[in-house]
Order: sequence, then structure tokens, then C-alpha cells
Amino acid sequence: MTNESAALYLVPTPLGHLGDITQRAIEVLRQVPWVAAEDTRHTAPLLRHHGCNARLLAAHRHNEEAAAQRVVALLAAGESVAVVVDAGTPGISDPGARLVARVRAAGHRIIPLPGPCAAIVALSAAGLSEAQFLFYGFLPAKSGQRAQALRELAELPYALVFYEAPHRIVDTVAALLVAFGAQRTLVLARELTKLFESIHCCPLGEAAAWLLADANRQRGEFVLVVSGAPAVAASGEGGRVLRLLLDDGLPPSQATRLAHAITGAGRKALYQEALSWQAGATSTRQS
Ligand code: SAM
Repeated sequence: MTNESAALYLVPTPLGHLGDITQRAIEVLRQVPWVAAEDTRHTAPLLRHHGCNARLLAAHRHNEEAAAQRVVALLAAGESVAVVVDAGTPGISDPGARLVARVRAAGHRIIPLPGPCAAIVALSAAGLSEAQFLFYGFLPAKSGQRAQALRELAELPYALVFYEAPHRIVDTVAALLVAFGAQRTLVLARELTKLFESIHCCPLGEAAAWLLADANRQRGEFVLVVSGAPAVAASGEGGRVLRLLLDDGLPPSQATRLAHAITGAGRKALYQEALSWQAGATSTRQS
């Protein structure tokens, strides 16, 4: 690769199944002189397996700034660098974002490759009806902060996607139940693409019992997908005023505030309706 084509490549790697790496990813890993890896010991066998001779440098959350400086210097010297994380797509609940920002600020090219991402794999199998989803990633580990985060999400009409580790799965499912109630659907996608992959779908109210019935169900890596809050239609004058304001281009929060002030209709129902309207308007624009 010449000086002019030096670039930072963002290269997704398999979540588990070694076959889940694209032809292009392999070609890039074979061509670049450097690979910045979250864990070089983890990535070295993958590179060997695909006949890649790139030199490895460590780029993890504890050395992000130093790694970014080194990568920028390599790019400035005309040497391309590929970024990989332990599994999936760099920058998605993983290191990478700061490195990308630094490389962009330094004026170098960034070339992202499509590939495995646990959230997207789980969503594709969730079969939920919502057209929109919100990717949250990891919830806070402390129970009070987690409950607060979930309260803020509780009324959104979008499918919600969380990452979770095995040692917190039971507590997190309990917190989801408290925040969202028993009726919403939960999809537990575990060990995706691996030998013990399982995808279980149930009402939130039944999830804890399902998990506790077999210790194996609590093992491995999880993506949790929760169905969105059901629409509570704001009817009557409140709903009519709200839709007029939204049609006029006001954002949902402002339309809700005004419709509530004008008609006295409940804020919660108005806001949910506004978000549903916005989601419907977005998907209509896209289709
Ligand atoms: N960057 C990765 C991606 O693109 O999905 C995510 C990395 S994040 C540090 C790790 C979390 O992703 C795990 O705790 C789990 O929630 C989820 N995850 C990764 N691999 C998974 C798998 N095979 N099955 C289910 N969840 C997985």
C-alpha cells in the first residue's frame, strides 16, 4: 500500500463461528502492514489462520490515547492500519471510537468494512414488529443507575437492544421486569454463532423463571432485545392538537409540551403518540 492509499480499516471479526469473516476482511488483513488489536494474544491466531503477516500493536481501552498517537504516526508515514476487536465490529461497545476520531481529525482516510455485530445478529432473529430499534449496549453495573437508565427508556416505542455478561444476566432481567412490566416481549440471544447458541423469546414476566430453570441458560454472552412500549393513543382534543403540531414540523417533545399545555391531556400518552408518529413518519419517508 502506497503513501497515498494509507488508511485506517475497521475490520469486523467473527463473534464465534470462524467462518463469519468476509473475503474483503481477510484481504485487508493480509495487505496491511499493521493490525491494531484489542487483545493481541486473542487476534494473533486469527491472523495466522488466514495467512496474515501484519505486525500487531495493542489498542485497548486502557491505552486508547497512546495507541491513537501511534496509529496516526503510522498513517502519516504511509502505513495502513487495520483495527480489530476480540469479536464483532470495532467501536460497538468496544474500543475504537476515540481512535477513529483522532485519525479523522488528523485527516486520514477511514474505511469501515461491514461484518458481524452481535446486536444486529440478535435483532435479525428477534422477529419483533417494531420498525425502529435503539441500541443501548451495556447498562450501568450499579443497580440504582441501571434502574434509572431503564426508567428513561420505558416509554420509548422502539425495540431496545442491550448487551449483557453472564454474571449479571439474572439481575438485569429482574431490572427489566421492574422497569417495563411483565407483558413486553424479551428475546434472550445467547452464544450467537457458537456451539451452544440459543434464542429464547418469552414475555418478560416469564424470563426469570426460564433462566433459573437451567444454569446453562445463564452461561455465555447475551444480547437482550425488548419489544417497544405499546402505544397508548392520545385521543380526543389532545391527540388532535398533537398531530397538528407534529404535522407542522415540531419535534415530539415540544409538540407534547404544547398539546399538554393547550388541552390538559396526559403527557405520557401524548409523548408516546408523538414518538410513534415520528417513527411512522420516518419509516414512510424511507420506504
Ligand atoms: N463489538 C462487538 C459487536 O460488534 O457486537 C460487541 C463487543 S462487547 C465488548 C461484548 C458483548 O457483545 C458481550 O458481552 C455480549 O453482550 C455481546 N456479544 C458478543 N458476542 C456475542 C455472541 N456470540 N452472542 C451473544 N452476544 C454476544
